[in-house]
Amino acid sequence: MKCIFCENINRAKSIEHIVPESFGNKNYTLEKGVVCDKCNNSFSNFEGKALTNSVFVMERCRFGIATKKGKPVKGKVNDLVVQADSDFKKNLITFKSVDPKNLKLIDPKTGAMALTVETFDKSESAVSKLLLTMGLESLYKSQKGLYNKYDFSELRDYIMNRNGIDWPFVDSQFTMPSFKSIPTFYDKHLLNKAHCKLQFREYNTNTLLFKFVYGGVEMMTNLLNRDLEWIAEQNFTKSNSALHPEHYRKKIKTVGNASYENP
Ligand SMILES: [Zn+2]
Repeated sequence: MKCIFCENINRAKSIEHIVPESFGNKNYTLEKGVVCDKCNNSFSNFEGKALTNSVFVMERCRFGIATKKGKPVKGKVNDLVVQADSDFKKNLITFKSVDPKNLKLIDPKTGAMALTVETFDKSESAVSKLLLTMGLESLYKSQKGLYNKYDFSELRDYIMNRNGIDWPFVDSQFTMPSFKSIPTFYDKHLLNKAHCKLQFREYNTNTLLFKFVYGGVEMMTNLLNRDLEWIAEQNFTKSNSALHPEHYRKKIKTVGNASYENP
């Protein structure tokens, strides 16, 4: 079997979970060899970081999901320590090292507070790699037509660390309609128990968008290249704070027909 990332012929021993097991996915997997053991092992570095040092850790705690080793979820986003309930109770999260400036009283009667949590802890590059691997693997599994139609060499080179250190993606503040499910009638049930959706949109010949929805978190990226035109064309107002990593935000004003404007 030929690995879909490094393209080496291999006899892998392990099965690749398209959405990491630590998100709660048990059954949406690829057969042995579609991803070689070497690639599979190297992915665990960015997967671990994306799962525990970004906003994803909050959702994993909220859902009471067990880690791959069967333990309650624990993570850290900047200085904030986030810990799930030890009995896997849903919607119970313990926070440690809370910075008082991130707390705001929302109801003086009950004393209820709102806590602002940052989205990433230097985990942008890890999250982008996680999105791209899930995107390519899910297309291979459920949308072979799209997988064969497009050239994913820029994605492959990035995942194999051959070109650059990051890749742009946007979070849920950036909305866009007309997405379709990647899993189809035939394999949708495999993801039933995981709280996630994998979707695509063919935006133009240069842009195949992949969207990952996990609980209340949504992330979107172009699987074909780092072009920012699709973001500029959407004219997304307020601020361009939904675009990550941050250095891409400066570029958005000058691409395409410069449709981005300051609010
Ligand atoms: Zn490989």
